[in-house]
Amino acid sequence: MKDIVRGWRHIPQRYNLIGSKCLQCGEVFFPMRVICPKCRRKGKLEDIKFNGNGKIHSYSVIHTPTDEFKNISPYPVAIIELDEGAKITSQIVDCDTEDIEIGQEVELVFRKIRAESDEGVISYGYKFKHKK
Ligand SMILES: [Zn+2]
Repeated sequence: MKDIVRGWRHIPQRYNLIGSKCLQCGEVFFPMRVICPKCRRKGKLEDIKFNGNGKIHSYSVIHTPTDEFKNISPYPVAIIELDEGAKITSQIVDCDTEDIEIGQEVELVFRKIRAESDEGVISYGYKFKHKK
């Protein structure tokens, strides 16, 4: 239990949603890229930290998950359009699947995805929930 608390306290430093922004055309990418597909060599990519806010662009409900997610099936997965313009696929948490609609505002949360990995480290992943 102590380890879990300590892990959470480090989240603001260790877990940020970082993508890339092309300084040439302004396009924003997630996950990070090395080269802008539009500008190629002319583009210069810079890290961008997303503010974590976005809108549901589309979604679907997963009924046949992998073993890892079996206990939470069915669960919703959405494509979220971030405020900065990039699109990201993520699970939507803390709601019933019926409550999800396209256009809803959502915000980033970090959640424990595995209690333990091989090294006994707790893994966190990004997810989204409805904005209050
Ligand atoms: Zn570009």
